[in-house]
Amino acid sequence: MCGIVGIVQQRETKIGKTIIEALTKLEYRGYDSVGIASISDGKVMITKDEGKISEVAEKIDIDSIQGKIAIGHTRWATHGPPTKENAHPHTDCNGEISVIHNGIIENFQELKEELLKQGHVLQSETDTEVIPHMIEQLVKKENQSLQEAIITTVRRLEGTFAICVVSSLEPDRIYCAKRDSPLVIGINSDRMFCASDIPAFLEHTRKVVLLHDDEFVTISSNGYEIIDFNSMKKIVRKPYTVSWKPEMAQKGGFPHFMLKEIHEQPNSLADYIRIDQPSLIKIAEKIHNAEKVFLLAAGTAHYSTLTGENLIRKYSKKPATSIISSEYEAISGLVDENTVILPVSQSGETMDTIMAIKHARELDATVLSVVNVIGSTITRYSDEVLYLYAGPEIGVAATKTYTAQTLSMWDIGLEVGKISGELDKSEYDSARELYRNIPTVIRQTIVRNESRANHISSWFAKKSSSFFLGRGLNLQTAKEGALKMKEIAYIHSEAYPAGESKHGPIALVEEDYPVVFVAPKDHTNKRMIGSIMEMKARGATAIVVIEEGDKDIEELGKWKFEIPKGYSETLSTIPFAIPLQQLSYYTAMRRGCAIDTPKNLSKTLTVL
Ligand code: GLU
Repeated sequence: MCGIVGIVQQRETKIGKTIIEALTKLEYRGYDSVGIASISDGKVMITKDEGKISEVAEKIDIDSIQGKIAIGHTRWATHGPPTKENAHPHTDCNGEISVIHNGIIENFQELKEELLKQGHVLQSETDTEVIPHMIEQLVKKENQSLQEAIITTVRRLEGTFAICVVSSLEPDRIYCAKRDSPLVIGINSDRMFCASDIPAFLEHTRKVVLLHDDEFVTISSNGYEIIDFNSMKKIVRKPYTVSWKPEMAQKGGFPHFMLKEIHEQPNSLADYIRIDQPSLIKIAEKIHNAEKVFLLAAGTAHYSTLTGENLIRKYSKKPATSIISSEYEAISGLVDENTVILPVSQSGETMDTIMAIKHARELDATVLSVVNVIGSTITRYSDEVLYLYAGPEIGVAATKTYTAQTLSMWDIGLEVGKISGELDKSEYDSARELYRNIPTVIRQTIVRNESRANHISSWFAKKSSSFFLGRGLNLQTAKEGALKMKEIAYIHSEAYPAGESKHGPIALVEEDYPVVFVAPKDHTNKRMIGSIMEMKARGATAIVVIEEGDKDIEELGKWKFEIPKGYSETLSTIPFAIPLQQLSYYTAMRRGCAIDTPKNLSKTLTVL
């Protein structure tokens, strides 16, 4: 969901360039259109257009956008198509008050009708545009100060928002407010930032203040002032320093963030393993003491929770069920004070997950979360948090956070097994040894399969449809592989339990139809041979992902990806996912797709 950024600085510079650079770091959030509002000679200047940041940056004269104050927006459209008119910022009737917004205003129809009756003229189809007109009405007709008008306005909004407002009425500051959509402040000695996420300003500062729901902030060159916009109480919150380094938000010589992030996995997993988190034992104990566990996630994170579900069931002997966050309603009637809710989210801002957690908390469930972004919304609704320490992930298609999430599930599972006694000391110790070895296995897996993925992609890229089949735990891997292929290469890909594929999907198979088999050398291995034979008999071309030396399956595949020995059966969901990330990456590249910013997608979905 859209990226927003604001800058207030002491000196006048080519601020448009800094805004564009910051927005580029947030492009994973949305890229339908781009817009900037700057203050020049006390007036609000708007520059905006449809298209991706690089396209818009070519069309406009960025260097001409100069000043001390500006706000910028990259949109992921919810209300109205991605056109220039619908691009943010939106303004009031006189072009004096300019607003950018992330989220959805649910009562915008009612507000719009009111404004139209009052004589306001709205230019766009967005929900956002009601905001500057509401502020205008209060300032002009009710003599409220700009600050009072913004606060009165946000109190009337229903839905989710993070907004930034600049105005010629007070040209030395940015006002912001938020509810449910993220907003952070970055502080540097001569510049203040506000943004949807930290990478936006990471190259300028690592000093960060996180804003909470229903807070209103004034940002000026003198600093920032936070108030609770309901109680109007002043809030004192000191900045903290994030450990992320500026180069983490840069491509570092790779053509795309996705490829860089694939290659970062040995290090991101090693970081997760190295950092001792006291919350881990508490999480395991709470799971051990609960009656039932529901794992909640959306998108790729959901597939990691399938490993979690399996391990928690196995080691706690309790019902553990993985639910897609937007389908939470199906189990909401089962949630009570003896329930653990375990949300897994990269951003910690996924709206479907947040809404489910809020409901579960009302029923006194315990919330134990696994997230990547420190201090994000989900962490604030959690009793305990396990962090992924994967660093910023900029590519829209999740890679390094998926493997870190899956590893964290293993980490939790092992501790649960230790506490419950399902794992005795020697079983636990040897499982931990395999766990610690995983970064090495991943490093070898990446190297071994890179050129293979590139080679196979020249054939795969010509296909329009494919299957990814797996059994047992690695059905999860097949699902993740199929999702990656859809997301970034736009090839229809469907994942199926291999044994189930004969009940329907096989009807689509024809000569040279691509079928990817995820086939580790575990108890499912023999049965996988049967599935491959069935598909090949109908003309399918098999691509097999196998453990090195698995000759039986290797000879059935036209192509193979190989995983080095040294992983455990349960941990196979981590290395076996790697070649599928690589295959989708190279296939997307050959098809000329926008790998880091695939069409219609957004990384952080802050709408329901
Ligand atoms: N709902 C607003 C719109 O459609 C904001 C969307 C966003 O967060 O990018 O313009």
